[in-house]
Amino acid sequence: MLSKERMNALIRIAMEEADAAVERGDDPYGGAIVDQEGNIFVRNGNRQNTEQNPAAHAEMVLIREAAKKLGSNDLSGYISVCNAESCPMCASALVIAGIKEFYFGAWFEDGFQPNIQMSVVKDACYDNIILEGGILANECSAGIKRGREKLSKNV
Ligand SMILES: [Zn+2]
Repeated sequence: MLSKERMNALIRIAMEEADAAVERGDDPYGGAIVDQEGNIFVRNGNRQNTEQNPAAHAEMVLIREAAKKLGSNDLSGYISVCNAESCPMCASALVIAGIKEFYFGAWFEDGFQPNIQMSVVKDACYDNIILEGGILANECSAGIKRGREKLSKNV
């Protein structure tokens, strides 16, 4: 379990990655995979538009990078940090990768992606994971809204 100070710092890094995603024309989501001490292993953001890949959510990009960097499919012991709650695709992929700790900012709200919450995935399938949401939730939500507005003006 990471300290509150470190967790807040990591969520702010996730927000930076979300802002960077918006700058390149991708959706406002970002995150990191960190080790047990909270050191960044990889950090990145959504790349759906950049890669023309509907599955390139931030978490999927992060899993791919982390596994490659580690030279293994097994990311056991690593921790997922995101500016928003993971969707069911990402939550499942993270669990399959061996990750059991999840920290995120904003909860899904109306207008944010599929309204199927990660907690549903947890309750249905994986009751042995640590899940904490709502970290700096207002800042994260505001950042996502700002990013969406910026993207809509670029169209
Ligand atoms: Zn996702």
